[in-house]
Amino acid sequence: MAEKDWDKRTRAVHGGVRRSQYGEVSEALFLTQGFVYDSAEQAEGRFRSLGEDEFIYARYGNPTVRMFEERIAALEGAEDGFATASGMAAVNGALSSMLRAGDHVVSSRALFGSCLYILEEVLTRYGVEVTFVDGADLAQWEAAIRPETKAVFFESVSNPALEIVDIAAVSRLAHAAGATVIVDNVFATPVYSRAIEHGADVVVYSATKHIDGQGRVLGGVILGTREFIRGTVEPYLKHTGGALSPFSAWLLLKGLETMDLRVRAQTASAGQIAATLSGHPRLSRVIYPGLASHPQHELMRAQTGQGGTVLAIDAGSKEAAFALLNALEIWTISNNLGDAKSIATHPATTTHQRLPEDQKAHLGITPGLIRLSVGLEAAEDLIADLAAALDAL
Ligand SMILES: *Cc1c(COP(=O)(O)O)cnc(C)c1O
Repeated sequence: MAEKDWDKRTRAVHGGVRRSQYGEVSEALFLTQGFVYDSAEQAEGRFRSLGEDEFIYARYGNPTVRMFEERIAALEGAEDGFATASGMAAVNGALSSMLRAGDHVVSSRALFGSCLYILEEVLTRYGVEVTFVDGADLAQWEAAIRPETKAVFFESVSNPALEIVDIAAVSRLAHAAGATVIVDNVFATPVYSRAIEHGADVVVYSATKHIDGQGRVLGGVILGTREFIRGTVEPYLKHTGGALSPFSAWLLLKGLETMDLRVRAQTASAGQIAATLSGHPRLSRVIYPGLASHPQHELMRAQTGQGGTVLAIDAGSKEAAFALLNALEIWTISNNLGDAKSIATHPATTTHQRLPEDQKAHLGITPGLIRLSVGLEAAEDLIADLAAALDAL
């Protein structure tokens, strides 16, 4: 059976393995900055071109990092991948490596704050023009994409309002103009992703989220064709220094082995919590793509088939949201997501604090909105904790 025919769960455990001469079971951690050469001639040869198992400097590549890149690429069904120090290094690397002054980018407006900073503040500084659209409105994408459009960028499920962008439809519009489709796919997770099959050219993950899933490290990865990864991304990243540490890559490799189990369990609990809270008299909204009430429930079913590990609730006001957060005993107040620990976040005052009020309102980041990232605790305990906090309001 060819490796490409393996189920995702098999690729997540065996993909990309490179064994050393010792035949270790668990992936070896090559905690080394560089590599020695047998001769000056060999060094000269490696700097000219690198073979499969040849490395020269960890900013360019490292065997443990390479195993992580190959495993996540196999999982996503991408030809190749480049691992980065964080999710933001991956978003910046994917965009900056391919764009130049005079290019045009169309992006959805509903973005994680740091993604918005790259598009609004960084790219424009270097002469790239950026047009923002409402990601769920195909007519706006169609109107904004034009012949000079070099790339389109969006979060397939937006943070924190959980709006879903139609990857297939936006890709069709972008490809008709010759533009590259770059998808930040964190909320979809590699477990449920079929982004490349739906038309995405480049898929970016913050590995800090579900891939590690245990709050230990920062990491990121850019996935795409071999030509894009090795020809466009690698030269940019190896010289600008966004490399992933081998230690972090090793933790992320171990994270990938259990990711499927974790994400499925977290998704099941998120569905249970959303169903229990929906219609609660103290909440004005319960947003979860897995609920039939979600405006893009059908699109979610076609795109990932699962509602995911995150939901959002609206307590109606900042005061009520803070009272709820402060009354929680099991849920932690923090700002990561995809973690084994359930985490509650108040986006308006933390992750999205810097957005102007009208932008927050436009994106549904209301004063009462709380993002809930569901972890691996017993769903009954998480529900009881929320119920008690809601009763105390
Ligand atoms: C967290 C996150 C990022 C950034 O990832 P880091 O690893 O924190 O740099 C980018 N996009 C989305 C959608 C995220 O949730």
